Parts: sequence; structure tokens; C-alpha cells
Amino acid sequence: MDGASAPVPDDAEAAVPPQQDWAAAAASGRAQRLVVSKDEGAATDVVPGNDVLIPPVLLQSLIDAARAGLPDEACGIVAGDRPAREGGTPTAFYALRNAAESPYRYLVDPEEQLRVTLAIDDADEAVWGIFHSHVASAAEPSATDVGLAQYPDALYLICSLAGDLPVVRAWSIRDGAVLEAAITVGSEVT
Ligand SMILES: [Zn+2]
Repeated sequence: MDGASAPVPDDAEAAVPPQQDWAAAAASGRAQRLVVSKDEGAATDVVPGNDVLIPPVLLQSLIDAARAGLPDEACGIVAGDRPAREGGTPTAFYALRNAAESPYRYLVDPEEQLRVTLAIDDADEAVWGIFHSHVASAAEPSATDVGLAQYPDALYLICSLAGDLPVVRAWSIRDGAVLEAAITVGSEVT
């Protein structure tokens, strides 16, 4: 494990720290908090309990994809047993090509999007989330992101590489309304 003050290099392959390490990193100012306050009543409309559980491996795969996509934005689709809005659990991440090849915007390659959504459908699963990265801005949806959002029942996961440590946040975008969902890093107890 890295020393507490060691910077994380761009090509780091370190696993996502356990949840308590995220909390420690946030407390020390090294990372933004991943678990967001639940005190916004309106946000309970996002997903049941306004809380989404993301397995560490999946979170790491999002961060890896964001880094692999540099200098451009990366994008992909997260499959789940149901859409996030219906309380689904994320099951897989498909990193897809950014057809825009731009550091400022993303366009999921249409052919890859079709192939993956068909595969998800064949597996009796659903589009749980839409992922993309922000290479130099916060992990918040841009006006363009809001305007182009087409999956009201999915969560929009954004990984920012703007800071020393990657930050992943989750958003519901429905009819132009943007609400954040709290991410808890962990796995469901089975
Ligand atoms: Zn964006």
C-alpha cells in the first residue's frame, strides 16, 4: 500500500481502497467524499433510498477506463439486473469507444452501443448506468451531458481526473432535472 502522502501516478494499478480508506482520504483532504449526504429530500426520487452500492472492482474499472481514455474522455455502459432507478444492482461494465475522440465531450460509438445493449438485453439485464469521464473538470454533468441524456432510469456515472485522485459521482438526469445519488463503495452481502 502506498504511503499516506504518496501521490497516485496516472498509471497506478492500485486497487480501489476499501471504504474506510476513502473516508480517511476524504478526511485528510486527499479526496472528495464518495458518500454524499442524504439530506436532500428531493433526491429520494433517484433510486430507492437515494443510495447506490458500487462494488470496488466496478469502481476501479471505471477509473481504469477513464485513465485509459486519456487524453480524451472515456465512456461506457454499466449493466445491472435492473435499471438503477428500480433499485437494480450493477453487474458489469462495458468500456466503449468515444467516437467523438475529444477531451471535452463523448459520443458512445453507435455500433458498440447497439452491440452491448443487445447483449445486455439477451442476458435479461438492463442498462444500469452510463459512464463517461471528465479529464479536467469536476465529476458533474455539463450542460451538454444533461441535454444529451437519454436514459432517465439509469444513473450517469462521471469520473473526474481533474484532481490528484480520481473522483466518481452518480447522477440521475430526467427531463433536464439533475439529482445526485450517493455512492457507497462495497458489495451486497449475499
Ligand atoms: Zn460530461
